[in-house]
Amino acid sequence: MQKIILTGDRPTGRLHVGHYAGSLKERVELQNSGEYDKVFIMIADAQALTDNAEHPEKVRQNVLEVALDYLACGIDPEKSTIFIQSAVPQLTELTSYYMNLVTVSRVQRNPTVKTEIKMRNFEASIPVGFFTYPISQAADITAFRATAVPVGEDQLPMLEQCKEIVAKFNAVYGETLTEPEIILPGNKACLRLPGLDGKAKMSKSLGNCIYLADEEDVVKQKIMSMYTDPDHIRVQDPGKVEGNPVFIYLDAFSRPEHFAEFLPEYANLDELKAHYQRGGLGDVKVKKFLNSVMQAELAPIRERRKMWEARLDDVKMILKRGSETAREAAAATLHDVRAAMQINYFENWNI
Ligand code: ATP
Ligand code: MG
Repeated sequence: MQKIILTGDRPTGRLHVGHYAGSLKERVELQNSGEYDKVFIMIADAQALTDNAEHPEKVRQNVLEVALDYLACGIDPEKSTIFIQSAVPQLTELTSYYMNLVTVSRVQRNPTVKTEIKMRNFEASIPVGFFTYPISQAADITAFRATAVPVGEDQLPMLEQCKEIVAKFNAVYGETLTEPEIILPGNKACLRLPGLDGKAKMSKSLGNCIYLADEEDVVKQKIMSMYTDPDHIRVQDPGKVEGNPVFIYLDAFSRPEHFAEFLPEYANLDELKAHYQRGGLGDVKVKKFLNSVMQAELAPIRERRKMWEARLDDVKMILKRGSETAREAAAATLHDVRAAMQINYFENWNI
């Protein structure tokens, strides 16, 4: 069996360091590992429209922003197929067949859908398209016969739902679809990076992000005004590192060589944490160190982004070609799905 990756992002805003830690970094490593036969990376514009139906201009503009972020992080169009979801209409057809295999109450139980409905104040007015997006996500994954889906932890329930759809489809119509595995980041702090405001998740929709495209001074200003431990008022007070976003970001991004370069009085993060916990270490010092770490990580990404920004026509061509490749792959799966469902009339009627 071929090893195939499918993953993607909603073009609802530029990508942030939560995406980078939770999924993008891993994708680039998997892409370069040479272990995968194909890598598909989808800009999920149709999914973004499920809760942005009235803002088509926002989605359209962010398709290019997300593509630029991908290229900036090291997604290589020679190795990965970057495509636009709505340019692959086969995905919509698959979704409509899968809808028959899922109950309304099953979608209602999906914890990610529940949280997102709350987050968007949708309780009384959920668009049907938004409600059913876990099903369309199963179509996206299975259309490419993905065996691996590198995503953040919030996507676990989506993958569970996808596996159920695959099992049900194969049981009813015969072995047709491939079951995917989720690939979560190895580093726990990257599973779900909190927001600058300390909220559980850095999210474009919550406006609590450091964006990959943020300029140096913006990154610095955001880090210096980050939420920390609210009880750590004076430098000498003992501070908490659990749930403290400054330390979670350090868990996610700092490496021992950063200490040697920017903060040589500590050998590693454990020593810095211990000092903070016993008191005598101020937030400003820790934030300044975090800023150095983040600038080191983000500077090459920002540089590459600027280079691609100057070649927008090439970026558009990458998306066009990628969408053609994706369409062919999805059409092949849809062909098998139609045959399995016995709706491939004109193929075997001898007329
Ligand atoms: P939206 O608010 O529009 O849903 P989002 O910021 O949640 O945007 P998505 O496009 O939904 O971003 O998610 C893209 C990918 O990034 C998914 O794999 C998701 O798990 C991952 N991801 C998003 N936010 C985080 C985060 N804060 N920490 C780790 N991974 C994240
Ligand atoms: Mg999301």
